[in-house]
Amino acid sequence: MTSREEKLFAPGDLQVLVDRVPRVQLANLPTPLHDCPRLSETLGGPRILFKRDDLTGLALGGNKVRQLEFIMADALAKGSEMVIVGAGSQSNLCCLTAAAACKLGMRAILVLMRDDKSQDIEGNLLLDGLFGAEVRFVDTADFYQLPTFYEAVAVECRQRGQKSYIINPWSFAGTLATVGYVNFVLEFCQQLDEMKLSVDHIFTAATDATPAGLALGTKLLNPGFRVVGISPAHLKERATSRIARIASDTAKFLGIDLVIAPDEITNYEDYVGEGYGVMTRECREAISLVAETEGILLDPVYTGKAMAGLIDHIRRGKIGRGETVTFLHTGGTPLLFAYRMELTPHLVKGGMSAQ
Ligand SMILES: *Cc1c(COP(=O)(O)O)cnc(C)c1O
Repeated sequence: MTSREEKLFAPGDLQVLVDRVPRVQLANLPTPLHDCPRLSETLGGPRILFKRDDLTGLALGGNKVRQLEFIMADALAKGSEMVIVGAGSQSNLCCLTAAAACKLGMRAILVLMRDDKSQDIEGNLLLDGLFGAEVRFVDTADFYQLPTFYEAVAVECRQRGQKSYIINPWSFAGTLATVGYVNFVLEFCQQLDEMKLSVDHIFTAATDATPAGLALGTKLLNPGFRVVGISPAHLKERATSRIARIASDTAKFLGIDLVIAPDEITNYEDYVGEGYGVMTRECREAISLVAETEGILLDPVYTGKAMAGLIDHIRRGKIGRGETVTFLHTGGTPLLFAYRMELTPHLVKGGMSAQ
């Protein structure tokens, strides 16, 4: 047993293991880490810093860029010309994969679920087109059904004589994506060191690789802050079990003998509202508050809900006034445009009136 105080790894030793994993450069790193004093003051709460992974640099940025550095390196190493990936019609992952494929001289086929945003060539869907991605719409509302479509597309590629690579976040690509966020912890800790800062909590929108990488990185380095994930969706498997499993798989992949248990993961599924991609009032208010106090754009699917979670924690006194919290901004900026109908009726300030 290791005590909570014990450091399992020195940063340099963990960096060596991460650096053994093939990687291509797609992101502009380190991303900025800065104070948000007007937001802190407005909330009457703790010191709040933003870690700007919305500024990772490729296209309009986001957490997927760090993840794709490892995934696309694997695709390249396997001689792939085509990458196949899928999700909802406004997927950040799909759009950024298409952008990464362009940068690396590959092409992308996106398998997108027909949903209530798929009619509208806006946000990520518009960008998918600009990146020349081949978009295939499929009639399913079940994420877990997508891999069967990928297989069919891969067969088609093979028949065309093209070597393809499937990015399935629930398989090996998910492990590689998680390495991106183990690497994030190393970067973040170094930044804190350089700025002579210590933080008590890091809040993030969290589904799979991001919270799993944070959980593994912080377990190994024990930097003294708590990771709090906010789910954007209710998935089949409980978030804490899923995240712990992905973190443990990634430890194994890196050659580290360590298992992370679900009870070591802090994750809230309380801010989802009606479901994935359905805006909540609290999310809309969080987006406006951050825009109006700091000039920073959150998104309606992930970071807006995560910020609603942070605000709720502050208001309920679960984070002390004297504490410091970092909000990891995971991106999603293009989604703002796809959700303009949900946002505009509420923009009554500054003379912009409801329709
Ligand atoms: C995908 C995404 C997340 C969740 O990332 P995971 O690595 O799947 O946990 C959070 N925020 C934004 C903006 C995303 O696009």
